[in-house]
Amino acid sequence: MPIFGDVLKTAFQKRATLLYPFEKRDVPSDYRGKVEIDYNRCVGCGLCVKDCPAAALELVTLPSGNKKPRYYLARCTFCSQCVESCPRKAIKMTQFYELASYNRRIEVVEPCGISY
Ligand code: SF4
Ligand code: SF4
Repeated sequence: MPIFGDVLKTAFQKRATLLYPFEKRDVPSDYRGKVEIDYNRCVGCGLCVKDCPAAALELVTLPSGNKKPRYYLARCTFCSQCVESCPRKAIKMTQFYELASYNRRIEVVEPCGISY
């Protein structure tokens, strides 16, 4: 039967998959992973919030009165529009892709310095 020939042939071939999570594939430098906001560069203009098609950014007011975006990772579609929109180049797409979590709280990135 031809199937046995195929089995024998593939059994000695180099495997095409990786033993994730022990082996990881190199991520391209322009990969669009988790969004990172540099809150020191951010001036709170809100353009990223306005342009985000997934409502993954929300402008919040810090105790100091300054406004900064809060990031909802679970809503993000990794489209990179916020990076394009930010006039201060305060947002970048990172290469971080291991985003699965059981904890909804860590999926919300609060602006630094904010306390509730
Ligand atoms: S990458 Fe796209 S979906 Fe994610 S926060 Fe930026 S604009 Fe919104
Ligand atoms: S567009 Fe840039 S500067 Fe404006 S609120 Fe967003 S991150 Fe801050």
